[in-house]
Amino acid sequence: MVQKMKRLYDVVVIGGGPAGSSTAVYAASRGMKVAIVEKDSIGGLIGKVSTVTHYLSVDNNESGKTFSEKLLSQLEKYHVTIIKENVIGVELHGEIKKVITEDGEISGKAIVLCNGTTPRTLCIPGEKEFLGKGLCRNARKDAESCKGKNIYVVGGADGAIKEAIFLAKYAKKLTIVHFEDHLTTIAEFKNKLDSFDNIEYLFNSRLTALKGDDHVDCLEITDENTKAKKDIFDDNCAVFTYVGSTANTEMYKNDLKLKNGFIIVDQKMETNIPGVYAAGDIIDKQVRQVSTAVAEGTIAAINAVAYIKEQN
Ligand SMILES: Cc1cc2nc3c(=O)[nH]c(=O)nc-3n(C[C@H](O)[C@H](O)[C@H](O)COP(=O)(O)OP(=O)(O)OC[C@H]3O[C@@H](n4cnc5c(N)ncnc54)[C@H](O)[C@@H]3O)c2cc1C
Repeated sequence: MVQKMKRLYDVVVIGGGPAGSSTAVYAASRGMKVAIVEKDSIGGLIGKVSTVTHYLSVDNNESGKTFSEKLLSQLEKYHVTIIKENVIGVELHGEIKKVITEDGEISGKAIVLCNGTTPRTLCIPGEKEFLGKGLCRNARKDAESCKGKNIYVVGGADGAIKEAIFLAKYAKKLTIVHFEDHLTTIAEFKNKLDSFDNIEYLFNSRLTALKGDDHVDCLEITDENTKAKKDIFDDNCAVFTYVGSTANTEMYKNDLKLKNGFIIVDQKMETNIPGVYAAGDIIDKQVRQVSTAVAEGTIAAINAVAYIKEQN
């Protein structure tokens, strides 16, 4: 491998979702040389959702894609360097922090960890084989190809229900499959569900296998109470799963204090290592929304800048 030029920044941010973007804008606005290391694209998780709801000032039709485009243009305006590389390790101790990617090394005087969470998979038979063959991951992107089909949405929380509402406009029939006996979603979404006449519910039901030849044609559902299994045959249907997420903290676990896999921070968003901050869905907290991620990014940036100034 050819050694890359030494890449030294004031603040290095891992992850370009709402938390990382907010961190970068606030740090850059305070005169810092800032880099975001992002393995995929600016926007993060919200970039892949059908619509962005409840974040102040976004309009009703704001899609994850258009929201992400705005984040990117704001980062460009602040001359934030965006490095499209996958982070595989970190060296957090010492005056200069190091981010190790598949392509080289990036150093920073302070570092902010904003690399969020990864959607959980169900770990059921058929899940790997049928990805892209009936099992879909991106409602906005996949909706057109699901037009007129029977669609199944697995999950009962806000994220799942919001995507179900979006997909119901395309579906012949949409079935929400949830392991509890009720949905755990907000009133606004419940009311919207009621306005559709093509939505059905399978409560106390777990999706336990996807079956078919070269496309999902059958869902195996297990009754949560009786454990009885039944097959639902539905030729050429589409399935979307929204069943929670896990924190992307594997590479930090030897250095940072974690709770249930999430990073513990103080009021300044600082971790147990000086100069190492974290913000967004990756931290241990109660509410995971764009608004909280953006706010924590702001706090992390302002304190990271103060930390750098104290060190000089
Ligand atoms: C279906 C669904 C719908 C939602 N809808 C809304 C909504 O309408 N309104 C709202 O406020 N919230 C919503 N949320 C929640 C919102 O998406 C999150 O709270 C928000 O995206 C968190 O931002 P973040 O920056 O902390 O993390 P993320 O958005 O997860 O960003 C993390 C970034 O880090 C990158 N990354 C991860 N690992 C690495 C690595 N090793 N190297 C480099 N980069 C890496 C990822 O590619 C990603 O871009 C929704 C969530 C879901 C699941």
